[in-house]
Amino acid sequence: MRVVVTGGAGFVGSHLCETLMARGDEVVCVDNLSTGALVNIAALRGRPGFMFVHADVSDGVDVQGPVDAVAHLASPASPADYLRLPLQTLAVGSRGSEHALELARRHEARFVLASTSEVYGDPLAHPQREDYWGHVNPIGPRSVYDEAKRYAEAVTVAYARHHGVNTGIVRIFNTYGPRLRPHDGRVVSSFIRQALTGEPLTLYGDGTQTRSFCFVDDLVGGIVAMLDSREPGPVNLGNPDERTVTELAELVLRMTGSDSPVDRLPLPADDPVRRCPDVTRALQRLGWKPRIDLEEGLRTTVNWFRSCAAEQVPAAAEAR
Ligand code: NAD
Ligand code: UDP
Repeated sequence: MRVVVTGGAGFVGSHLCETLMARGDEVVCVDNLSTGALVNIAALRGRPGFMFVHADVSDGVDVQGPVDAVAHLASPASPADYLRLPLQTLAVGSRGSEHALELARRHEARFVLASTSEVYGDPLAHPQREDYWGHVNPIGPRSVYDEAKRYAEAVTVAYARHHGVNTGIVRIFNTYGPRLRPHDGRVVSSFIRQALTGEPLTLYGDGTQTRSFCFVDDLVGGIVAMLDSREPGPVNLGNPDERTVTELAELVLRMTGSDSPVDRLPLPADDPVRRCPDVTRALQRLGWKPRIDLEEGLRTTVNWFRSCAAEQVPAAAEAR
């Protein structure tokens, strides 16, 4: 296949590009580098079958040559990023998704949207199944992301219904792994960076809020299964191993051998209380389930922060 990956220079996108290339697909990575980086795809650039296009998909997606599939991942994903880039986030979820869908329609290509557990908002149903409609504050600070993704889902389904495009939607739950930006503000990258540098861990709220953390290799396996199928979804992709943020902090401190203190800071507005995917549908329809447990995934991630990210992590980390 020749696959267009929007957001392919980001954290998840770069792993997806790598996996697709490794199995012999050709990849066109389209990215504006707003939250991604060329270093993430450095190993792929120059390889036959890989092409990088520096473009903002909110302005349009023009790809020469055949296109068999479009994986639409372009969007800021960390709360710190989308709160910093609110209008760009709304634009890429709306106009960007329309352009990516148009590309798929023109080429009669498979289209997969990277949606998010945020479409469930601060959920009243637990764990979250795909038939839950969600509990989103449409005017809260997170709405720039949540509503952009909800619109992206709506326009994806409309293209399937009205233009016959072969579409699929995956709802991704918190994912972590190598290539998380140490300063992207997400909890796993923040805690690991802080633990390695001896800075205080920034724990928001009382730490009883939960998340369910999926290792990036597992997630990418699910996205590829979705690309290869005709499954419309939505399908949850995540690891149902639910942990409190306090548990995560303790685990990171233990695994890094860090004696960083924990700083308690106010909980951001509308921060969801609980998050856990029901992944029954992914197993039934895609034969997918996560395989890498949190301890193993964190070990790999901590090692990556210690080595590859060393130049980005302040010197104290290297002294350990
Ligand atoms: P990321 O910020 O690392 O990657 C996003 C990529 O999209 C970056 O390379 C960025 O430069 C690019 N991008 C942003 N706006 C763009 C635009 N207008 N045009 C072209 N490129 C643009 O984030 P990520 O964690 O890799 O997330 C990838 C996708 O998965 C996103 O759509 C996100 O909403 C979704 N997702 C991720 C998670 C997670 O935990 N990582 C959870 C739910 C959903
Ligand atoms: N969080 C935290 N400290 C941080 C970053 C995040 O305690 O430095 C909390 C945040 O309030 C939320 C959870 O960790 O309850 C997950 O946050 P993240 O930004 O990783 O993703 P979210 O699931 O909120 O999109």
